[in-house]
Amino acid sequence: MKLEDLEKVKFSDNSKLKFDYELSNLNWFNIGGKSKIYLLANSLRDLSKFLKQYNRRGKLFILGAGSNVLFDDNTFDGLIIKLGKNFNNISKLNENLIISGSSCLDKKVSEFAMENEIEGFEFLSCIPGSIGGGIKMNAGCYGKEFKDIIVSVQAIDFLGNVSTIPSSKITFNYRSTNLPKDLIYLSGTFKGSLSTKEKIKIGIDNLKNKKQLSQPFRVKTGGSTFKNPIDQTDKKVWKLIKESIDIKETNKMFGDAMLSEKHCNFMINKDKASSKDMKNLINFIKEKVYNKTGVNLELEIVLTS
Ligand SMILES: Cc1cc2nc3c(=O)[nH]c(=O)nc-3n(C[C@H](O)[C@H](O)[C@H](O)COP(=O)(O)OP(=O)(O)OC[C@H]3O[C@@H](n4cnc5c(N)ncnc54)[C@H](O)[C@@H]3O)c2cc1C
Repeated sequence: MKLEDLEKVKFSDNSKLKFDYELSNLNWFNIGGKSKIYLLANSLRDLSKFLKQYNRRGKLFILGAGSNVLFDDNTFDGLIIKLGKNFNNISKLNENLIISGSSCLDKKVSEFAMENEIEGFEFLSCIPGSIGGGIKMNAGCYGKEFKDIIVSVQAIDFLGNVSTIPSSKITFNYRSTNLPKDLIYLSGTFKGSLSTKEKIKIGIDNLKNKKQLSQPFRVKTGGSTFKNPIDQTDKKVWKLIKESIDIKETNKMFGDAMLSEKHCNFMINKDKASSKDMKNLINFIKEKVYNKTGVNLELEIVLTS
């Protein structure tokens, strides 16, 4: 792939272009090789200029907070874009509408909504990703998903065309949407309802407590590894895994890649697991669950190659 011309792109807002850039510090698993090209885009102006120059000449991946992604050990042979400074703003548009840049953490948006006495964003306090990743994944927990609060999404495609997509034009599925794959979400407009700070705080505290009781925290993980196979069975995926493997035994088999004993759908990098260790563990579980229950598990975490 020709790269020289990319170095010549002049940024107005201090965006950073790097080559052979380490990815392991940019994701929750702390795993991954390098990216051949990496862009920290600080503004729409810079992003749009760079996308036009790149002109889809190779692979392109958008990285949010890295809480749902497992990078490969080998170099990603393309461009990884992370959104920076100018995508990190939140504003109140009217009494119950909030607009947030894509690189804002969900938690920050939840706090902003609480401070402004807008209810409906409490679940965001339990999801460690960014707004962009949440839109892409239709992330959710405890009965609420992004679909319940999105009014519209602002996006740019890989060739630099900007659009606003109202939620009525989006089909939201479990941890996915029907939006085209070549979109970079720039921001989202979200709607809640009026409430009081005290009531919202109680809601947030309740959800956080529930989460702490049921899931591991302060570990290198990507959250739920597999989706609940809702089209195949009512059983939760953790239950299928528990029925199909001996977790303690499995945790001795794949180097530092292991399953959380607190929530066995969470994979953990105990220390120095490679992406290969993680993928071997994934394949082992898939096979065991299929053989035992006939259920074909689908990944929730996103793999790059
Ligand atoms: C401890 C833990 C708990 C979790 N709990 C939950 C939970 O309760 N519910 C839940 O749904 N998820 C949960 N997750 C998973 C994860 O936090 C969510 O999927 C989150 O929405 C991912 O956001 P991110 O910014 O980290 O995205 P990343 O992991 O960086 O990327 C995920 C996907 O989103 C895409 N993406 C990211 N930003 C953009 C953008 N601006 N434009 C276009 N595409 C983009 C990426 O290309 C990739 O396909 C958990 C993860 C962890 C580590």
